[in-house]
Amino acid sequence: MSSFETILVERPEPAIARIVMNRPDARNAQNLQMTYDLNAAFDAAVQDDAIKVIILAGNGPHFSSGHDLRPGAKNAAGTDFPPIGNWGGFAEANAHGRFAREQEIYLQITRRWRNLAKPTIAEVHGKCIAGGLMLAWACDLIVASDDAQFCDPVVTMGVCGVEWFVHPWELGPRKAKEFLFTADSWSAQEAHQLGMVNQVVPRTELSARVLELARRIASKPSFALKLTKEAVNRSVDVMGQPAAIDQAFALHQLCHAHNLQEFGMVVDPSGLHPSVRKPAAAE
Ligand code: ZN
Repeated sequence: MSSFETILVERPEPAIARIVMNRPDARNAQNLQMTYDLNAAFDAAVQDDAIKVIILAGNGPHFSSGHDLRPGAKNAAGTDFPPIGNWGGFAEANAHGRFAREQEIYLQITRRWRNLAKPTIAEVHGKCIAGGLMLAWACDLIVASDDAQFCDPVVTMGVCGVEWFVHPWELGPRKAKEFLFTADSWSAQEAHQLGMVNQVVPRTELSARVLELARRIASKPSFALKLTKEAVNRSVDVMGQPAAIDQAFALHQLCHAHNLQEFGMVVDPSGLHPSVRKPAAAE
């Protein structure tokens, strides 16, 4: 299979693809290169008719620390990477360009992965923070090791949660508010009790257990798997999830616009790690 700069693509069995984020030194922070590498790898796995299940995992101590917000860590969607959407305007100033970029690289691309026509399993260990949650939530199933921790600290940075706003759907409205208001890290066990995580397994058994689950799913007819996923996703769609996500995304952009006026950067700097406290550094 193709080789990528930021990810590895494994084929543990003919019917199973395993996509592994491979920036362990950066705790698998998701830069633009990784975003488009993941997109290409997901696409390739979908186009390969022999593959029936796709696993998403991370190398190193953590699944994902979120989006890479460090200055200079990104290039531009639409120039270095062919865009997946048709909105355009990535180079425009202010909210015009920011809305376009965030819609492309966070909203549309996550929706695309959520709708991949094959079952996907997130194999989550260690920390799964902010943008990392978006990766896990885009998958159909989440299997977490007992050391996994989940957190969306974005409210601390003056923004109403990450761009893919499915918190109320994943956690229920009341727990979603607690999760966002407090920015607390929740354990795999707590996420499991809320129905966000399918299974919690010992850290040492995580990959083997995910592979076993993938193998059981891959034994089913591929068309039935595809249509079952479609039926569940469309059920959630007719409940209004896509419109709710779009509405929250617009509010997320309003937060960025406010912060830019208030602080000269798109997030509240008091909630940022010192290494990224530079104007226009973060989204
Ligand atoms: Zn944003």
